[in-house]
Amino acid sequence: MNANLLAKKLLPWYREVKRPLPWRVNRDPYRIWVSEVMLQQTTVTAVIPYFEKFIQKFPGVNALANAREDEVMEYWAGLGYYSRARSLHASAKKISSLGDFPKSHVELLELPGFGPYTARSVASLAFGERVGVVDGNVIRVLCRVLDLDLEWWKTKDRNYLQSAADRLAQAIDEEGVSVDPSDINQGLMELGATVCTVQSPTCLLCPWLKNCRARKNDTILQRPRSKPRRESEIWAWQPEIYLRRDRKILLIENNYAPFLRGHLIWPGKAVRLKKKPKHFHYKGGVTHHEIYVTVTRAPVKSTERPDQLAALTKDLKPQWVSQSEMKTKVPSSLIRKAIEVLDLDENAST
Ligand code: SF4
Repeated sequence: MNANLLAKKLLPWYREVKRPLPWRVNRDPYRIWVSEVMLQQTTVTAVIPYFEKFIQKFPGVNALANAREDEVMEYWAGLGYYSRARSLHASAKKISSLGDFPKSHVELLELPGFGPYTARSVASLAFGERVGVVDGNVIRVLCRVLDLDLEWWKTKDRNYLQSAADRLAQAIDEEGVSVDPSDINQGLMELGATVCTVQSPTCLLCPWLKNCRARKNDTILQRPRSKPRRESEIWAWQPEIYLRRDRKILLIENNYAPFLRGHLIWPGKAVRLKKKPKHFHYKGGVTHHEIYVTVTRAPVKSTERPDQLAALTKDLKPQWVSQSEMKTKVPSSLIRKAIEVLDLDENAST
């Protein structure tokens, strides 16, 4: 791989086409870090409003460190994966106590919630450390331009891609000057997100058109190799809807179902089955889970018994939400649909 040549072509392309995203307005490590954590679970378009609200409320690492956990969760609601928000909060406290943001990916890896991708991303985008980043977009672009038939989900092949990304981030220009690793990494991710897309890459717009080995070998749609699918599992899910007299409904942090882990979910139980059940209200799918849902409504009296509710919600960060808040707090329609099954407009005291 001629890293210097690829970098030379990628940089002017990226600088011309890069999208004006709110976390790109400067090289503030805090903003970059928050955006990277949010982007791990959803798309750029979906993240922007959450990011802007979050940054307005917690404009810097000290503001986040000093916030109460329930406030952080409130501004995270709707993004799911609450453990990530808790790690973000825990790391903010640690960085605040250090007095300065750690600058290298090795130091960042010591903080809660920082994995190899986030640590390298923050270190290179904010501080210019010459390390590459490897996410889904980068895997796709590198496997295509280099025509690599790799089992990229395995450590050995993932390390190979990491070293290719590192070599790009360490490229030098014609004058022997180091390229900006922030622009290289963002350029790679941008190329994957906007041009070298999964199903229909627009190669004519690609700065690497003439260098792309997969295009030359006609293997574009076979790169990257598909990860073997996990065998599908059948689950019966029985959510219980607790409706209070003020019409608010109880959600807890999912600690019992293997699907939608870490999301706000109804209390209830999930049981793995050998075959599909005959009776259920509706069905849905999350990754390899085929889910058959039967909804029940908890007796109103049980919602009025603090002792029972305390036992039910122990350690589960319960939240009572109104039906109008459901859409923002619970993006999954598999969860929201449960309240459509019950007639919640009936008299709550029956
Ligand atoms: S030429 Fe096409 S397949 Fe190759 S890297 Fe560019 S967009 Fe991807």
